[in-house]
Amino acid sequence: MPSTLYQDYPPDLTQGEEEYLLSNLKDWCIAHGIAVRPPPSFVSKGQDPSGVLATTAPVTLFPSLFPRSCFDEAHAIQTTYNELYAAIARDEEWLYGIVKELVGIDDFTAKLWEVHEAVKKEGYVQVGLAGPTYRIEFLRYQALTLGLFRSDYMVHLDPSDSNASPEIKQVEFNTIASSFGGLSGEVSQLHNVLSKIRAYPQSAKRIITKSNMPVSESASNLAAGLAAAHHAYGEPQISRETCVLFIVQDPERNVFDQRHLEWNLQKQDIRTFRLPFHRTLIDTRLDFKRKLVYTPPHAPATAYEVTTVYFRAGYSPDDYPTPEAWAARLHLERSNAIKCPSILTQLAGCKKVQQVLATPNSLHLERFLGTKEKIDRVRATFAPIYPLDSSEAGLEAKKLATEPETAQRYVLKPQREGGGNNIYRMAIPKFLKSEPEENWPAYILMEMIEPPAQKNAIFRNGEVQKGGVICELGIYGACLWRNELEGSGTKSEVLKNTQAGYLLRTKGDQSEEGGVAAGFGAIDSVCLV
Ligand code: ADP
Ligand code: MG
Ligand code: MG
Repeated sequence: MPSTLYQDYPPDLTQGEEEYLLSNLKDWCIAHGIAVRPPPSFVSKGQDPSGVLATTAPVTLFPSLFPRSCFDEAHAIQTTYNELYAAIARDEEWLYGIVKELVGIDDFTAKLWEVHEAVKKEGYVQVGLAGPTYRIEFLRYQALTLGLFRSDYMVHLDPSDSNASPEIKQVEFNTIASSFGGLSGEVSQLHNVLSKIRAYPQSAKRIITKSNMPVSESASNLAAGLAAAHHAYGEPQISRETCVLFIVQDPERNVFDQRHLEWNLQKQDIRTFRLPFHRTLIDTRLDFKRKLVYTPPHAPATAYEVTTVYFRAGYSPDDYPTPEAWAARLHLERSNAIKCPSILTQLAGCKKVQQVLATPNSLHLERFLGTKEKIDRVRATFAPIYPLDSSEAGLEAKKLATEPETAQRYVLKPQREGGGNNIYRMAIPKFLKSEPEENWPAYILMEMIEPPAQKNAIFRNGEVQKGGVICELGIYGACLWRNELEGSGTKSEVLKNTQAGYLLRTKGDQSEEGGVAAGFGAIDSVCLV
C-alpha cells in the first residue's frame, strides 16, 4: 500500500464540483431509499405530524480506499465463520460453559438463557411435515434455525514493520439484527453512479474505476436467506397463508434499510409484515400445534402462519422494558416458526464467546471447524482479547486495564449490541474503579485495532464533514441449518451457507464508536487498492 496514495486521496473538489456532486448525491439517496426517518425529538415537537418526512442517511462522498487482499480474504472466510457460529449455536453445553460465567453478573444474558431453558424444558416443537395427519415432536433443539450474520473487521498494519502487508482483524461478530444490508448495496451503486457521471475529479479516474468498486449484493442475498428459511419451513396448515414476520423497534428510524429486504422478498411473492416487538402478544398467537399465527391489525379477517421470525429488535435490554416483553420473547421462541436468530444463536454472538475463541493455545476452533486451513485462516483474524476474571490471563488483563499508560491501547466491552456501550482507552481505569470487581468478568478487554490513516468527506444532516476517517468492513453471511434427533444425540445438516455481500462504515477518526444508527458513522463503499 503506497502511503502517498492514502495521503492524496480523496481528490480535492472545487466549490462548483462539490455542489454538482452533492446535488446528485442528495437526489440519488432519497430516490433509492438511502434514507432514515427524522429523530424522535423532531417528531415530538410536532414537526412531522403525518409521519411522512425522511432524510438522507449519513453517507460518504467518496468510496474509501480499502486493500483488495483484505477485502477478498474477508469474503473468502465468511462461509467458515457461518459454519463456526452455527456450530456454536448448536453446542448448548459449550455455550452454557460461557454463559454461566455471566449469569450472576449480567442480568440480560441471564434472562435470555432463562428463555432458552424454559422452552427446552417444555420441548422445542416441530410439526411433522408431510402427510395427512400432523405429528408434533418435542425436541431438545430448534429444528431449523436461520442466521443472518455480519462479521466486522478493520485493517491492521503492523506499525513496527514498514514492509508489512495489511491484514484484517475482527472487531466483532453479529448474530442478531445485523443492519445496513439493505442500504449498503445502494451506497455502492451511488458511488458507481457518481463516478460514471464524472462527479469525481479526473485526477482520480485511475483509482475510482468500476473494477475497483464492487457493488454489495447484501439486500438480495440477505433476502435470499430469509426466503430459504421460508421455503424450508414446510407446508402450512391448509387454508392458511404464510408470511415472514419482521420484529421491529417502534419507532424505528432505520426503517428503509429493513424495507429493502422486505421488497426483495415481495418480488419473490413472499408476504412480509412488520410487527413492533411490544405488539407481539396482541397480534400473534400460538395455535394448538404451536404454530405462530399473525393477524394484521389492518386486515383482521386474514390470519397468516409465520414461517420465519426475523428479529430487528430484541437485542438490547431497552427492548424489554416490561415483563410482557420477556413473555413475548418466550412466546416467539416456543413457536414452530424458524427464528432468525434463536436465543442460542443470539447468545453465540456475545462478546464473551469471541474472547474465549481468541484464547491463545486453546482448542475451541478445533472443536467446531474441521480443517486446519479453516482454523488457521479464522484465527489469523483475531485481535488479542482478554477476560477480566481470576484466570492468569484475566489477572494480567486487570493490570493492563487499570493503568492509564497501558489502558489507552484497549477497549472495554460489555455483553451488549447496537453501539454506544463500550468504554475506550483512558476512560477504562476510572470506569473500572466505579464498578465492583465481582462484575468485571461481564466485560472483555480488547486491543484497539489501528487502521491506516485516510481521509474522506461525510454527508450527515445536510452538512459535509471532511477529515481523517476510520473504516470498518462488515461481511454478511446467511446460514440455515437443521437439527435432527439421531439415537440419543442429534445430527445437523447445513441447508444453506453463503457469503451475503458487504458493508463499509466510516467514522471520523476522533470518534471512538462507529455505529451509523447510533449517530457516529456513515455508510460507505470500497475503492479497492
Ligand atoms: P457493537 O456490538 O455495539 O457494535 P462493537 O464491538 O462493534 O460493538 O464496538 C462498537 C464500535 O467500537 C466499533 O464499530 C468500532 O468502531 C469500535 N471498536 C470496537 N472494538 C474495536 C477495536 N478492537 N479496535 C478499534 N475499534 C474498535
Ligand atoms: Mg459493531
Ligand atoms: Mg454488534
